[in-house]
Amino acid sequence: VSNKWKVNNTVIDCGDDVLIGDGKLTVMAGPCSIESEAQINATVESLKQNGVRIMRGGVYKPRTSPYSFRGLGMEGLKMFYNACQQNGIKIITEVMESGQIEEMMPYVDIFQVGARNAQNFNLLEALGEVDKPVMLKRGISGTIDELLYSAEYVFKSGNEKLILCERGIRTFENAYRNTLDLNAVPILKEKSHLPVIVDPSHGIGIRKHVAQMALASAAVGADGLIIETHKTPEKAATDGQQTLSFREFEELMQKLKVFETAF
Ligand code: PEP
Ligand code: MN
Repeated sequence: VSNKWKVNNTVIDCGDDVLIGDGKLTVMAGPCSIESEAQINATVESLKQNGVRIMRGGVYKPRTSPYSFRGLGMEGLKMFYNACQQNGIKIITEVMESGQIEEMMPYVDIFQVGARNAQNFNLLEALGEVDKPVMLKRGISGTIDELLYSAEYVFKSGNEKLILCERGIRTFENAYRNTLDLNAVPILKEKSHLPVIVDPSHGIGIRKHVAQMALASAAVGADGLIIETHKTPEKAATDGQQTLSFREFEELMQKLKVFETAF
């Protein structure tokens, strides 16, 4: 995935003119977890109003405690698919183990590998055999090189449709959930031809500061953003504390317009 081997930046084609890494800022947004049909439909409406073509939402959730909500699984993914399909919206969702790939395949446009699975080499190799884009999140305490080597596992196994994601790392600092490492953006783009997405929601973990960090991510040259949004964040099943309301999301989308002509 090194720039030494490929001079042109990789552009990921998700179909229906949805591109990542084409020089424009691609926004993916949606809830942390898929919860219900009503929740999905409300989110789809908000995305459409803001011209967003990719919806995020977890149906398999990696949780610190096994007693927390762990997602709706395939039933949730099928609801997610039905709503998005009808509205021309692409789906990005987390796959947690290789055994899930086959049944998820028909319903997914981009497979997300979560921070906790950043070095699950069996999963990475299995995704190397898939003909769909894969977004790799940086590990909880992952270095830049570790992220790039994880990408190599997928690439070497045959899948070159890769996207890298900076989502914050664990440091000594505990004033916020993670330390969003925006240094990663220019460094990854210098080292690799792959597109780089930033996740400011997990990166800072505090709703009122997410928009500023999203703008900073765009300013530093990210190819796109992945943002958690929900009709009623305070009632979200997971990660409500870092989730934007639809109104806050719309405000952010308006502010991001300055970047349409910036680069
Ligand atoms: C998520 O995207 O909701 C998620 C679990 O992210 P991460 O793997 O970065 O913690
Ligand atoms: Mn989340």
